[in-house]
Amino acid sequence: MQEKKIRYGLASEPEMKKTGGTVELRPGIRLGFTKCFTCNNMCGIRYRYDEREGRLTRVAGNPYCEVVTGGRPLPLSTPVRKAYEMLTGDSGLSHRATTCGKGASGPDVLSDPYRIVKVLKRAGKRGENKWHSIPYEQALREILEGGDLFGEGRVEGQSAICHF
Ligand code: SF4
Repeated sequence: MQEKKIRYGLASEPEMKKTGGTVELRPGIRLGFTKCFTCNNMCGIRYRYDEREGRLTRVAGNPYCEVVTGGRPLPLSTPVRKAYEMLTGDSGLSHRATTCGKGASGPDVLSDPYRIVKVLKRAGKRGENKWHSIPYEQALREILEGGDLFGEGRVEGQSAICHF
């Protein structure tokens, strides 16, 4: 523990290390590649799942994705082990793959104790910071159909202003 503090400060230990030319994953974690669906970019991401903690602990860039590698993705024919190798510090920054802050906050979306898990509707005037929770179905109906949603007069819903 003391060694970890000295070497990594508050950061978690690296996901992998290279010893004798071989890349090894840190015991107790799983890494995988997938996509982020938080916005329409749908960037490639890699995730770290900590088996001891039983939760997702990191989202970073997928080195096979053009968007998160500055237009220099690894060819899809690159073996995953080789891709891991190219992500280690020894390889410099040329194969770095990073997400935006929103994508990187993926673990918080799943497990932050302060995340919002209900639909909240404004209960006071704008800026008063008063809210109450409403059922999901009601939120969908109000967003689509509009109405006098806040006692401030009628507002249009999405169905009146979007014509796809
Ligand atoms: S990583 Fe960021 S830009 Fe990419 S899809 Fe996720 S939220 Fe959108």
